[in-house]
Amino acid sequence: MSVFDAHVQRKFSAPENGGILLGTVHGLHIEVVHATPPFPTDRGTRCSFDRSSEGHTEVADWLWRESKGTIRYIGEWHTHPEDYPSPSGIDLREWKISAAKRKDGRPLLGLIVGRKGIYIQSTLATGRALVYSALVSTSCVRP
Ligand SMILES: [Zn+2]
Repeated sequence: MSVFDAHVQRKFSAPENGGILLGTVHGLHIEVVHATPPFPTDRGTRCSFDRSSEGHTEVADWLWRESKGTIRYIGEWHTHPEDYPSPSGIDLREWKISAAKRKDGRPLLGLIVGRKGIYIQSTLATGRALVYSALVSTSCVRP
C-alpha cells in the first residue's frame, strides 16, 4: 500500500505509474506481498503507462528464488488520474491477453490506484472477470 500511496496522481501533471504484483497462493486465496515500484525505463504520461520489463522482472526472479518458488507473479498495478478509477478498454484488453498467456493457468490480478479508491479485478484465462472491490480507500495507509 505504501508503494501505491507514493504514486497516487494527486497533481494534475503527475504521470501514470505502475509495476507488478508478487505474492503467494493459498488454495483459492492469494496474498500480495510485494508491489514493484516504477523503474526509470518505464514510460508514463498523465493518461498512459508503458511498463518496461527491466527492473520488474529482476525483482520477480529474485523473490521467486529467495522464497524457493512460493512468491510468484500475481498481476499488475498502475495509477489513474481519477478519484475512483475504472479500467480503460486498453486495460481490460491487456489483462485478458496476459491472463490467457499465463503458463500456470491462474487468474491475473489487475489493480488500479486512483486518488481516493482502488479498483481490483481478477481476470481468468477464459476472459471472465471478477471485480473484487471498486471503493477501497487509500487514505488508511497514511501513518
Ligand atoms: Zn489504466
